[in-house]
Amino acid sequence: MSDTIFGKIIRREIPADIVYEDDLALAFKDIAPQAPTHILVIPKKPISQLEEATDEDRELLGHLLLTAKKVAEDAGLTNGYRLVINNGPDGGQTVDHLHCHILGDRQMQWPPG
Ligand code: 5GP
Repeated sequence: MSDTIFGKIIRREIPADIVYEDDLALAFKDIAPQAPTHILVIPKKPISQLEEATDEDRELLGHLLLTAKKVAEDAGLTNGYRLVINNGPDGGQTVDHLHCHILGDRQMQWPPG
């Protein structure tokens, strides 16, 4: 897959407000927040979208969700939050590196737009 802006953030080639990092994942604040708290959790492995994940990525995907939970806790989202993974064009995905949005500190609506 080709490189993306998130690859550049992982390699510290462009700045980001990083809130969590481990061997497998990175979390940083979204540059255009859609809620008072809006954090992206990404795998360091450059999987372009959920659609491209395979059985080999089972543990990594589990790690991503548990990391999102930890990051949300650390952000103080005690009253709930929403996790979003946009997949492909109809899903509204704009950056081709798998990422999970954490949105919080406001009431979410359903259905989403
Ligand atoms: P998507 O639309 O692909 O689900 O989400 C991509 C997200 O990445 C968007 O919410 C967008 O604001 C965020 N984003 C795009 N470029 C940058 C950047 O350079 N830095 C940060 N921190 N977020 C970015």
